Amino acid sequence: MKIEQIKQTIKNGGYHLPEHWVIDWLLEVLAKPNSFLITDATYELTKEELIAFNTGIDKMQSGIPLAQLIGKQAFWSLEFMVNEHTLIPRPDTEVLVETVLDWIKPHRFVSPAKLLDLGTGTGCIAISLGHEFAKAKSTSSNWQLTAVDLSNQALAVAKKNAQLNNVSNVEFVHSSWYNALSTEQKYHVIVSNPPYIDASDAHLTKLKAEPITALVADNKGLADIEHIVRFAPSYLHNGGLLAIEHGHNQAESVQAIFNANGFKQVKTIKDYGGNDRITTGVLE
Ligand code: GLN
Repeated sequence: MKIEQIKQTIKNGGYHLPEHWVIDWLLEVLAKPNSFLITDATYELTKEELIAFNTGIDKMQSGIPLAQLIGKQAFWSLEFMVNEHTLIPRPDTEVLVETVLDWIKPHRFVSPAKLLDLGTGTGCIAISLGHEFAKAKSTSSNWQLTAVDLSNQALAVAKKNAQLNNVSNVEFVHSSWYNALSTEQKYHVIVSNPPYIDASDAHLTKLKAEPITALVADNKGLADIEHIVRFAPSYLHNGGLLAIEHGHNQAESVQAIFNANGFKQVKTIKDYGGNDRITTGVLE
């Protein structure tokens, strides 16, 4: 089989998979850069390469996402190891990272400033922020980050990701939301991408490969967000920021939860697709 034949099958929709999954998988098997597919379209896959390629295509067709097949996902400017124990980082969550960085910029904090990431999964939010804080030495080198998760398997992945990305300012803690933390320790920022999908949401049928505990929450998907917001005032400094990712149709409910728990300047920010995705509030 030649590369040009694979490209033709992609064009005809023959794999029934997202085009970039097939392309990225092919590049992974060949260990070549993108340009190879153009410059060497007549290249014939070896027997071993073809077996590996087809095995991966079969796996993806059976429901394994590309990120789990190759064991990694790009997020922010970094790369994160993923497996079946973690949510796969989504581009929309980069908006959450950006929102936190934008809010922090004009503020002056007494160092060390502290940030808490609840339900860290792969660690993508905390590690991306930790990476940026370490880079911006002059303004925010003294940030200390704490990332918690209920899953020890997810924490193992997150710790590995911190190492892989040379990020050393994140401490990982095994905890169900705030449970293992002390209210004596206050944070300047709390951030979270919690589970927020309702159990009856049709969208879930497409998300079978990721842990259900990272996706689904009771009470129309709002139960974990409610818990996080309700207890946030005990862990935030006055003037601190709470930033939470949520479903595209949850902005109104999430804003109401923020308002009911003493947050001010409550606002919602859209994701790259123009959907309501992040709500923030300041504790005053
Ligand atoms: N945004 C993800 C999705 O709908 C879900 C992530 C989450 O529940 N935190 O695919």
